[in-house]
Amino acid sequence: MDQNVECDVLVVGSGAGGLSAAVTAAKHGLNVIVAEKDAVFGGTTARSGGWLWIPNHPMQKDIGVSDSLEEASTYLLDQAGEKFDPERVNAFLTNGPRMVEFFTRETALRFDPSATFSDYHPDAPGGKPGGRSIVASAFDGRELGPMLAKLRPPLPELTVFGIMIGSGAELVHFMRWSKSLRSAAFVARRLLGHAAATLVHGRGVRLTNGNALAGRLLKSALDAGVQLWSSASAVELVREGGVVRGAIVEREGVRTRVTARRGVVLACGGFPQDRERRARLFPHREHHSPAPESNTGDGLRLAAAAGAKIDESLPNAAAWVPVSRVPRGDGGWGLFPHFIDRAKPGVIAVTNKGARFVNEGNSYHDFIQALLAAGETSAWLVTDHRAIRSYGLGFVKPRPLPLGPHLASGYLKRGATMSELARATGIDAAALEATVAVYNRHAARGEDPAYRKGGTAYNRFYGDPDIGPNPCVAPLAAPPFYAVEVVVGDLGTYDGIVTNGNAQVLDENKRPIAGLYAAGNDALSIMGGNYPGPGITLGPAMTFGWIAGRHLARAD
Ligand SMILES: Cc1cc2nc3c(=O)[nH]c(=O)nc-3n(C[C@H](O)[C@H](O)[C@H](O)COP(=O)(O)OP(=O)(O)OC[C@H]3O[C@@H](n4cnc5c(N)ncnc54)[C@H](O)[C@@H]3O)c2cc1C
Repeated sequence: MDQNVECDVLVVGSGAGGLSAAVTAAKHGLNVIVAEKDAVFGGTTARSGGWLWIPNHPMQKDIGVSDSLEEASTYLLDQAGEKFDPERVNAFLTNGPRMVEFFTRETALRFDPSATFSDYHPDAPGGKPGGRSIVASAFDGRELGPMLAKLRPPLPELTVFGIMIGSGAELVHFMRWSKSLRSAAFVARRLLGHAAATLVHGRGVRLTNGNALAGRLLKSALDAGVQLWSSASAVELVREGGVVRGAIVEREGVRTRVTARRGVVLACGGFPQDRERRARLFPHREHHSPAPESNTGDGLRLAAAAGAKIDESLPNAAAWVPVSRVPRGDGGWGLFPHFIDRAKPGVIAVTNKGARFVNEGNSYHDFIQALLAAGETSAWLVTDHRAIRSYGLGFVKPRPLPLGPHLASGYLKRGATMSELARATGIDAAALEATVAVYNRHAARGEDPAYRKGGTAYNRFYGDPDIGPNPCVAPLAAPPFYAVEVVVGDLGTYDGIVTNGNAQVLDENKRPIAGLYAAGNDALSIMGGNYPGPGITLGPAMTFGWIAGRHLARAD
């Protein structure tokens, strides 16, 4: 061994799960090291929307939302079905609000609530049409000092001129900048501020969404005295007589034995980039993940080698999302996750056979499940000139930004008629024309008898409130017509290490392995392979990280 280091707690991975555990343990007086394999901190978390699903969170009373533990538990029982885990669901629901209180009181974390961001199945038992999700408040990255350069930037495809657009009012301004002077002035101010910050700091400093969450967690970790090691990969757990005592960490070619007196928290972000496990557990071959390349399933392998039980039995091994492949101009490709555009009026999704297969406004996870159930792994989002200029489509932005570059790169396909669009995309022409004709006939009245697009509060949340009677449905009537191809991606994985309500890792006999914890996507999801609402991976990641930190600190 090249060197030895001691601490109370070693946290492996610096996303929401890891940093939540690290900050909590450090705030309870423990000496904590975070080992992060990548050169930058923040993991998938820094690329994310930064939403946390926390039923009964402390801000619900400020926004007039009523909720209860019973309703939330009923909802999760319905959503997780036979995979419902009462012990961990109860731990999540009782501790989630306490976690939010703790971080808001003791650290740099701040959150904004939303009264209208709906559960994804609001009509299911215990579901709500809004109020359970909170998002990390925007954060001034300059508070990180030199550490700002070590924060993973947002996904370039989810930025406009390098700006990650915040949720709520900010997003509305960006969507309406060509329609309203106020919005145009707002966007101009944001662009100027961003340009000035990029000149001075090499990147934007007004962090939003997941970048704000990771930035605020990083700041909290610095304030709490956590030692943050980048380019530091945990390669082996150190065990003595069945107890985990630490790990071997490889850091720039140097192997360090880190002895962790209290224990190790695995928070490596699951296996979205582990080709072997993906091939075994995903039902489809071609897969594109916007998660960092470093999330290669190390946590699951380290845990399994220490005797942990890995559960690979969820009906969906990951949280699916449709992504489009964006040519980056240098021969490489970026990925654009389609969260919002599918719900807009005048947008439908069809397979290569020209058939619709889903309510396009449903969640990304439900969209992909329907695609796979239709026996396909790719689809086309099809729209008309009115809709694409009003809302954009995927990486294509609304007016006044030009369509030309996207047509030239091949990202966007266009046809003066539906049959021309079919030729440009390879979609069955006769079927596409028939599908659009049927859709348009009903859409003229705002109806969609086939799939009931616009039928739920969640659909309507992303619709266009200016379009009536259905904010999610309008005919595709204004030529030319456009299409972007989407394929299967994920936001993170669900199968994982079996843990208990204390975030302790369990062995094959369901006994805790002393000194070993897991949080975030390394741990088996409590959602049973379903995607119940906005923030259902980060909410539990933060909560079980907090639970692990407190258990390690023997806090009551
Ligand atoms: C575009 C996008 C938007 C999303 N929006 C949301 C949202 O709004 N709400 C929500 O709930 N979820 C969202 N998700 C999903 C969410 O981001 C992830 O589920 C979550 O960030 C996972 O957190 P984590 O702590 O488990 O892992 P991560 O944040 O991925 O962190 C894991 C870290 O571990 C490191 N690591 C891996 N192996 C090792 C090793 N051997 N040693 C040391 N370090 C290691 C990795 O490099 C990585 O930095 C989104 C995902 C994407 C891609």
